[in-house]
Amino acid sequence: MQLDPEDIATCLLDDTDAIAPGGAPMSTPIVMTSLFAFPTLEALQEGLRNESTTHVYSRGLNPTVEVLERKLAKLERGEACKCFGSGMAAVSAVMLGVLRAGDHVLFVNHIYGPTLQLADHLATFGVTHDVLLDTDAASVAAALRPNTRLVWLESPGTMTFRVLDLEAVASVVRAHGALTCIDNSWATPLLQKPLTLGVDIVVHTASKYLNGHSDLMAGAVITTAERMREIFYRAYLLNGGIQSAHEAWLVLRGLRTLPTRLRQQEADALTVAHGLRAHPAVASVHHPAFAEDQALVARQFRGFSGTFAFTLAQDDVTSVRRVVNGLRHFQIGVSWGGVESLVIAPASGHNEARLAAQQIPRGTIRISIGLEGADVLLSDLQQSLDASMGAA
Ligand SMILES: *Cc1c(COP(=O)(O)O)cnc(C)c1O
Repeated sequence: MQLDPEDIATCLLDDTDAIAPGGAPMSTPIVMTSLFAFPTLEALQEGLRNESTTHVYSRGLNPTVEVLERKLAKLERGEACKCFGSGMAAVSAVMLGVLRAGDHVLFVNHIYGPTLQLADHLATFGVTHDVLLDTDAASVAAALRPNTRLVWLESPGTMTFRVLDLEAVASVVRAHGALTCIDNSWATPLLQKPLTLGVDIVVHTASKYLNGHSDLMAGAVITTAERMREIFYRAYLLNGGIQSAHEAWLVLRGLRTLPTRLRQQEADALTVAHGLRAHPAVASVHHPAFAEDQALVARQFRGFSGTFAFTLAQDDVTSVRRVVNGLRHFQIGVSWGGVESLVIAPASGHNEARLAAQQIPRGTIRISIGLEGADVLLSDLQQSLDASMGAA
């Protein structure tokens, strides 16, 4: 992992922490207020005319949340960031901020399920979409329609961890006059900086690695100041899916250890991934470290986080249940990116058609590597895989 030293400084105390003239507090003050009082009615009315830059009401700006917003904008090399009460609030705000009735959205790669469910719902408002699983720039160019306004990317993709060439895709989409948005939650801004590759908008869930302790929900959008004004006035202020000052403070605390957590989780995940690859009960391991185009992986990522998947040689739900339920050091649950290792599998026994449409094998299991230690986690997986082979 080749982290930028400037990014490590940004995660710790730096000039983004200053909230008043003079020295910066080592721990950000939690400004618990719904509104800000003005000396005169005229001053308040002037503030209301510039709510994206003035403290008027905490549904717009809050000083604690702004510290986190400055840090995430700086880490992503973007001009502006807004934080939200969840990753899905951030995803919704981008879609509501940039889309109009009649627009088309193209989703490229394997996309987080609820994001696609939101797109289904947007059909009610006259926004259509397609999902493209071929990730090369030529296929993306061929799938663009005259009314495609937004191309939504995930790289690596949910569950399959396939990597796409962001620079190539962003360039064909830009030539078409549409916008690109990427969900950069897996890599975090420390490991992949899509705005520097030509992508227009970045969204994050901060409920995963950014906060890192599985104890809150948060999200963020980073883009240019101009586009953010559109998202701020059309979606942020009106949807009201804001982040609270208290939770922003917790994410700021989580950020302090993000570089160190990522280094450890990358190393442990790679140890486990190599161990799984060598196990006879495992057909394949889905991790960007094993992607075909390693030159692209090296160009796009400064390193890997600790979430990946593998597919069992026994490609059936019974084997998946046996392996997952046989683990002792993984918690069974949704989400990822915390300090406790987690496991989940997409196959439920009654979603065969959907999995087939998404080209996700039934025997797929996703794990998020926490901080228990690679030896403990790999032997746990090995004992459960061994037992499942004996039972089959
Ligand atoms: C969890 C997740 C989200 C949604 O974030 P929430 O904070 O749970 O709303 C979005 N994208 C990806 C890739 C996720 O894993």
